[in-house]
Amino acid sequence: MPQPVTTINGTSKEVHRIIGHIKGEAPGPTVVFFGGIHGNEPAGVKALQNVFSQMEDGSGHFSGEFFGIAGNLSALPIDARFIDEDLNRIWFPHRMESLSSPKPSRSIEEKEMLSLHTLINQILETASPPFYFIDLHTTSGETEPFIVMNDSLLNRRFTRNFPLPSILGIEEYLTGALLSYINDLGYVAFGFESGQHEDIKAIVNAENFIWYTLGLTGYCSMRKQELKTLRMKLNKSRTPKRFFEIYYQYLIKEGEEFEMLPGFINFQTVPKGTTISIAQGTSITTEKSRQLFMPLYQDKGYEGFYFIRSIPYFFLWLSKYLRKLRFDDFLALLPGVKWASAKKDALYVDKRIARFFAKSFFHLLGYRTREMDKTHLVLKNRERNSKATDYQKAPWQ
Ligand SMILES: [Zn+2]
Repeated sequence: MPQPVTTINGTSKEVHRIIGHIKGEAPGPTVVFFGGIHGNEPAGVKALQNVFSQMEDGSGHFSGEFFGIAGNLSALPIDARFIDEDLNRIWFPHRMESLSSPKPSRSIEEKEMLSLHTLINQILETASPPFYFIDLHTTSGETEPFIVMNDSLLNRRFTRNFPLPSILGIEEYLTGALLSYINDLGYVAFGFESGQHEDIKAIVNAENFIWYTLGLTGYCSMRKQELKTLRMKLNKSRTPKRFFEIYYQYLIKEGEEFEMLPGFINFQTVPKGTTISIAQGTSITTEKSRQLFMPLYQDKGYEGFYFIRSIPYFFLWLSKYLRKLRFDDFLALLPGVKWASAKKDALYVDKRIARFFAKSFFHLLGYRTREMDKTHLVLKNRERNSKATDYQKAPWQ
């Protein structure tokens, strides 16, 4: 069902669920890009449309399959973030299971999810590994481009090829994201934030990102120099090309009046004693010097702002080895700790035990924490489902 979408420069173009699909002459990877999961973020859709038309004009050599998929077809034409609920906060196993049962009333976004879920399954069944899933987004505030991802070793290994800052572990704060769902299936899956919603640079950055990814994965055969040129085009941010972790989220309560003070930009370091926002008439002031992430400058959304910090290289190295050694097998021997399932992909931990360990200790081992009840935490492991062997022969390895 084609629907018009208002693009950044105000022109209208029809958007289909499949923006484009090009199968190469030779076997190769499957690269899947999503754009417009948030209806007020048309830059990704526009970038994919541009890349597909450039490909149709040119004479490139392609191996494998490349898909461009549009997200919220209902919200995109009216430039709304969503209609009933955020399409990027509902990808929970129990909600997907409920999609298979006939139900008279569904939210608009549940219908969108059903259609996307069916399409993703078709791609996984018919196309060939290794699979790459990338979700294109933009932010409400001004920003340099960056990567957001679930902290799996596979994601880390792939994304370190990009000259961009990467934010790890967002899934602990934002639940039900499309990419977390695909990540849990064990594939390379992450998000790229290409700029501010209305900024024309957000389209250009996303296009460069798509081309670079197509070259890096081996879908599009490129000379070393071509890849290097694209890398230089992407390498625009002043923020160090490092891994960062989120350690604080300001969550806006239902009905709370929240206003971010103007002028803050993503990744900015804010000195101690700076008022950054007003909530219910009260100023929120930094108690220490903080690095600000994703300040909210739009009406819809509950995530006011985050604080981040760069992860020391030593911890990145240590966590890699602890995960490879499966150090968590020893952890499960402790009293108050047991495997939550036979699959050994989650730990069930008594909070009295958990409090002896810092949260960052579990992060090191590849676990993300979720509150279970008053007495227990469920820690979910990112590594156990990893399809790392699919990627062993990838050109970026
Ligand atoms: Zn978004």
